[in-house]
Formats: sequence, C-alpha cells, structure tokens
Amino acid sequence: MHPLRAYIGIGSNLDDPLAQVRAALQALAALPASQLSTCSPLYRSVPVGGPPGQPDYLNAVAALDTRLSADQLLRALQAIEAAQGRVRELRWGPRTLDLDLLLYADLVRDDAWLTLPHPRLQERAFVLYPLHDIAPGLELPGGGMLSKLLLKCPPQGLERLDSPTIAGTIKPPVPTP
Ligand code: ADP
Ligand code: MG
Repeated sequence: MHPLRAYIGIGSNLDDPLAQVRAALQALAALPASQLSTCSPLYRSVPVGGPPGQPDYLNAVAALDTRLSADQLLRALQAIEAAQGRVRELRWGPRTLDLDLLLYADLVRDDAWLTLPHPRLQERAFVLYPLHDIAPGLELPGGGMLSKLLLKCPPQGLERLDSPTIAGTIKPPVPTP
C-alpha cells in the first residue's frame, strides 16, 4: 500500500502543554509504517465549549504519511493520548493531550467511532489556521477549498506563537531491527 497523507490536530491545556505537544510529535514520529512529514507553528487558543475557567490551549497540526489504516491510526492516536495521561472525564474539559484525526487522504466516513473529515474541523480556528499553514492549497473531500473555509472562520482569539517550528526538534525514531 502506498502511504497516505493524514492530518492530525494536536491540543493540550494541562501539565506543561509545550512538553505535551513535543512528546506527542515524538510519538507520532515513532509510529510504525508512518513518517512525520511536517508540523505547523504553535498556536495559543481560548477554550471552546467545556467548563468555564479552563486554561488556554496550545495547538498545532501535523502531517503524517502513513500506511496504517484510518482505524489503526485512530487507535494509535488514542494510545498516545492514554500514554500521556489523558483521562476522559468532562466532554471538552481540560486535557493533557487531544489528538484528532482531521483528514485521512480523501476518505469520507460517518460513524460514531470515526468521522472523516473531523466533524468540527470547519468551525475551529485552532484547526483551520495551522492546517492552512502547512497545506494552503488543500481541498477537503466534499467540503471545498481550505482557503475559502478559513475566510469564513473568525480567529476566535487564536494567537500564533512566535516560535520556530517545533518539528525540527523531533529526533528520527530509532529503527527497529
Ligand atoms: P473532541 O476531540 O471533539 O474534543 P474527544 O477527543 O473527547 O472530543 O472525542 C473523541 C471521540 O470522538 C472518540 O471516542 C472517537 O472515537 C470519536 N471520533 C470520531 N471521529 C473522530 C476523529 N476524526 N478523530 C478523533 N476522534 C474521533
Ligand atoms: Mg479528540
């Protein structure tokens, strides 16, 4: 199977979010049958929904070229969340790490376990803006041009952080014999 391009939304607002995002990228880079291609700049976002008073989020979007199926990849993302201490409590409550499968090639799918494109992608500035940074010409399956969606989505208090891309800090995974 030819590798397929997946985009993954990364978010954290607990337990040193910068370290969480870095560790998540490291874990993505170490996934089997996959190559971490690029990562967007970091953004700070104001929490949307969920309980009041939770801390701001750090967000980024990563591009992964993978031979894993969409189901295998979602399971792997949930394992990374669990390994980084995510406990599923309140819906949209604070979390050490949230990994969302935003797009998997041009797959369209709609079930409770996995919906693609990610169901809230179009309304979330903290997803659309970093995704646009790394894939400005992207066309969503059935959803039009990313650049057009961006124009319809106000920044919602999103702030791009003046940090160099953190993808460069990720060490290549140790090859398995
Ligand atoms: P959110 O990411 O919207 O804040 P959660 O991470 O708590 O919410 O919800 C994840 C749930 O959504 C999981 O049970 C998962 O099976 C389901 N889900 C459906 N589609 C996707 C997707 N594209 N990416 C990640 N999780 C998804
Ligand atoms: Mg999620």
